[in-house]
Amino acid sequence: NRMVAPEYAPEDAEVENPLRPRNLEEYIGQEKVKENLAVFIEAAKQRKESLDHVLLYGPPGLGKTTLAGIIANELNVNLRITSGPAIEKPGDLAALLTNLNPGDVLFIDEVHRLSRSVEEILYPAMEDYALDIITGKGQMAASYHLPLPKFTLVGATTRAGQLSAPLRDRFGVVLRLEMYSPEELAKIVTRSARILGIPIEADGALEIASRSRGTPRIANRMLRRVRDFAQVMTDGVITYQSAKIGLDRLEVDEIGLDANDRRMLNAMIRYYNGGPVGLETLAAAIGEEAVTIEDVYEPYLMQIGFLNRTPRGRCVTRAAYLHLGLTPPGEQTP
Ligand code: ADP
Repeated sequence: NRMVAPEYAPEDAEVENPLRPRNLEEYIGQEKVKENLAVFIEAAKQRKESLDHVLLYGPPGLGKTTLAGIIANELNVNLRITSGPAIEKPGDLAALLTNLNPGDVLFIDEVHRLSRSVEEILYPAMEDYALDIITGKGQMAASYHLPLPKFTLVGATTRAGQLSAPLRDRFGVVLRLEMYSPEELAKIVTRSARILGIPIEADGALEIASRSRGTPRIANRMLRRVRDFAQVMTDGVITYQSAKIGLDRLEVDEIGLDANDRRMLNAMIRYYNGGPVGLETLAAAIGEEAVTIEDVYEPYLMQIGFLNRTPRGRCVTRAAYLHLGLTPPGEQTP
């Protein structure tokens, strides 16, 4: 239940859809991705063809699902949303594919979690727009080659490296989403506040943006929490001051670290002299799962240069010591 977790949380449900931009113009930031997509979409429309399959990768909450919706909107086609773990059997995928209309977008979130047998159905579907199905066994075996409507697969994954090579090779367009700058996030917060009818000042939006770890989903979540503080403690307008009070109370610091981040960094410093410390050792020391550390704690800490991964283990950087008000090893106390 971390305020700063980038993954979708039930509390996001209420606003996730109303806050989603519907077209490329409304989508803030990711300029390179938008420019390229705009060209590919225009070209496909001119040729009256389906868009090439698109792979979106990057950390959670950066706008992959949103982009899939925008692609469908810009192409004037339907969007079907599913996810790797939701497609259990090859038949589930076959049912999804045969129900598409020509040109439709099929969005598969967590596409790296498709099972092998489902992936194998997907290859000819992506390549030849056909289903190759084998039924029965031995002498009763029969194979069918079923043509499918031309469609666009938009796959999303948090790490492109998790994808099997044959699947990755079948995406014609591969786009990497980057974390957002505080200025871009401030625009997103301002837009969200307008949609939700929350009064906000520019430096209030920037304060929320600076603490939301480069991630729109976190920014939108913070906006709603800060609104409560502004409403109860002041006149309801989110200013720099009310944003700061709210986020301090929620124990998210000026650069978006929460108590968990600080606890992990402090443990690395206190017990392992700042590292190197192995992932499993660290996990045991702070009572977390190794995958949680890798997927939840580390991406942002590495992004801001507080943590390095080395062959011998994780190391805390000088910047992290200074942020925590500690003296880096080998340096004089000021
Ligand atoms: P992902 O699929 O990468 O986890 P989502 O597309 O669900 O992320 O985005 C999470 C939320 O963040 C959405 O509800 C959307 O309102 C907001 N969001 C994401 N990217 C942008 C953007 N570029 N501009 C404005 N809002 C965005």
